[in-house]
Amino acid sequence: MSNRPYYIAGNWKMHMTRAGAAELAKALAGALKGGRHKYLLAPSFTLIETVAPILKGTNIRLGAQNMAPEEQGAHTGEVSVLQLKDLGVETVILGHSERRHSYGEEDALINKKVKLALAHGLEVILCIGELLSEREAGRAEAVCEAQTVAGLAGVAAADLDRVVIAYEPVWAIGTGKTATPEDAGAIHAFVRKVIARLYGGDAADRIIIQYGGSVKPDNAAALMAKEDIDGALVGGASLKVDTFTPIALFG
Ligand code: PEP
Repeated sequence: MSNRPYYIAGNWKMHMTRAGAAELAKALAGALKGGRHKYLLAPSFTLIETVAPILKGTNIRLGAQNMAPEEQGAHTGEVSVLQLKDLGVETVILGHSERRHSYGEEDALINKKVKLALAHGLEVILCIGELLSEREAGRAEAVCEAQTVAGLAGVAAADLDRVVIAYEPVWAIGTGKTATPEDAGAIHAFVRKVIARLYGGDAADRIIIQYGGSVKPDNAAALMAKEDIDGALVGGASLKVDTFTPIALFG
């Protein structure tokens, strides 16, 4: 057993409007009260102001799903780190595969966002993960290594305690296909070695590496039983109290 806390995060993606978000946030705040792990909910930008007062004072952190690479200025349609902080956001998810593959975000852009978020005191969940074609070509480790190294380029060791890595094989996200605990655990162990090379063994022992990709109540415990899997980034199953609660309260 590691000393790392389990960290279970819900990524609500582009779901819900304010009434539904308020209802779900209230229900989850109640259900996870007293939960032993670390928790986060990341609603859409337009729902953050609604959800913020509901999570305030609870054991659930408030997250955002993305942010601009610039602090402010002429960037139509973007949302800045200052605007997120103004709403009480504590954590931002960056480099999600939907941002990488549907919106063309590349490592250099993601790295700029990572550094900006950290400079402003936010916690970052940096998502990495290979496509099915990359896994089939035997390149899963190489892709995850490259995304980790590039995503963290220029990040100081002192800031690494505010970085969480989420390993999310792209072929498992929203597809109902989950990596086996063995396959996921192997990538987690590999990424931890990459962190050890970059930042030393102590930092590697401390860093939280979440798994994401069709995590459900019936597979969460087996995944998180793996030594190097320190929690979950949950999409679909975070949208219902009945599916997120058992994942969040596992163990
Ligand atoms: C995600 O959005 O990061 C995710 C893993 O989604 P799902 O759980 O729906 O596969």
